Amino acid sequence: MATPVTYYCPHCETVVELQREGYLADKSVTPFPLNGWTYVSADGDYESDDADGVRFVCGTDGSVRDPDDEGCGEPFYLSFVRSGTTDAGTAVDPTAETE
Ligand SMILES: [Zn+2]
Repeated sequence: MATPVTYYCPHCETVVELQREGYLADKSVTPFPLNGWTYVSADGDYESDDADGVRFVCGTDGSVRDPDDEGCGEPFYLSFVRSGTTDAGTAVDPTAETE
């Protein structure tokens, strides 16, 4: 069963929403892609084993939760935690606790 999960844009804090299946591992949201990771667009097959994360484009890819939010148009990156990763896999979202 899909569960809606929300993330904040690291540029403008617009809330985006993604439907995720199953167990939700810790993740990081960064304004830049992690080196060597494969990102899939928010309307793509991000549940695929080939996807290491999701590339959002704030406000333009249909992922914004509130349709009245226009977003900032900047890309940002959700990285799934992968086993065997070190620094990148444990990166922490610096905006997660600003509220
Ligand atoms: Zn934004």
